[in-house]
Amino acid sequence: MKIYLAKHKGFCSGVKRSIRLAEKALDERTGPIFILNEIVHNRTIINDLKQRGLNSVRDPNRIETGTMIISAHSIPYHVITNAKARGLDVIDTSCPLVYRIHKAARELIDDGYKVILYGDPDHDEIAGIKAIGPDDIHVLDSIDDIDDLPMWDKPAAFISQSTRTIEGFEEAANKLHIKYKLLKVVNTICRATRLRQEAIHELAKQVEMVIVIGSKTSANSNRLEELASSYSIKTHLIDNEDELDLDWLEGIDNLGITSGASTPDFLVNEVVKRIETWSKNKNIPTEIAQL
Ligand code: SF4
Repeated sequence: MKIYLAKHKGFCSGVKRSIRLAEKALDERTGPIFILNEIVHNRTIINDLKQRGLNSVRDPNRIETGTMIISAHSIPYHVITNAKARGLDVIDTSCPLVYRIHKAARELIDDGYKVILYGDPDHDEIAGIKAIGPDDIHVLDSIDDIDDLPMWDKPAAFISQSTRTIEGFEEAANKLHIKYKLLKVVNTICRATRLRQEAIHELAKQVEMVIVIGSKTSANSNRLEELASSYSIKTHLIDNEDELDLDWLEGIDNLGITSGASTPDFLVNEVVKRIETWSKNKNIPTEIAQL
């Protein structure tokens, strides 16, 4: 069996930075340390940092003292100013590329646009961007919802959550152009997302099955699974080696493996090792390549 590892996979720079800053805080600070929601959408990382003392809370008002960490996805900025006003120490690990989307939204609103934001309405990143202009930003979760968007007496602009698929964004932009003749399109999907999506296309063309390693709560891992599925090949999204069903491997000659931007490399290595052991026991020669 040939195992192809995606050329671009795993931690992005924003996630690495966020985890590094949280670990530094845990090493150096005294007093309680809290993360709003999840540091990254990966169960293994969340559990590890929890054991080291990182408390997760959903409601910032429940934090009475200590340090509050903001994740790479960011949050509405007033949450940070309110926390500081209440005397909390705030460590903002928001990804600079997410803040670039905040800036783009701000500038579009200042230039007189109504902004259509392509993304998951329940995601922290979207809550943070929407808070820039709650009356001027309209979240579009699905292309099917375009008909429900209102018409405005201002021109419309179109931006995206950093982790949406390039294909989805382009298709939505084309349909929006029909409805809003003067639509301004600003593609805010980040480079890490693009590279991982380009890599999954290369992988999916060569293999009979793709395994994506990432948590079900990870937006970009779900998008990778979605893209691989579009090639009508078998795809599985698993958190770690415990969720690998070895029966899936029967009859597979070419297997592709990738991982989401919040998945640490060691989880990928563990899955590969388990597959290699299975192959060895079955006397199936294996070869690992990068694609
Ligand atoms: S996926 Fe992109 S925007 Fe999100 S944290 Fe990673 S680099 Fe930043």
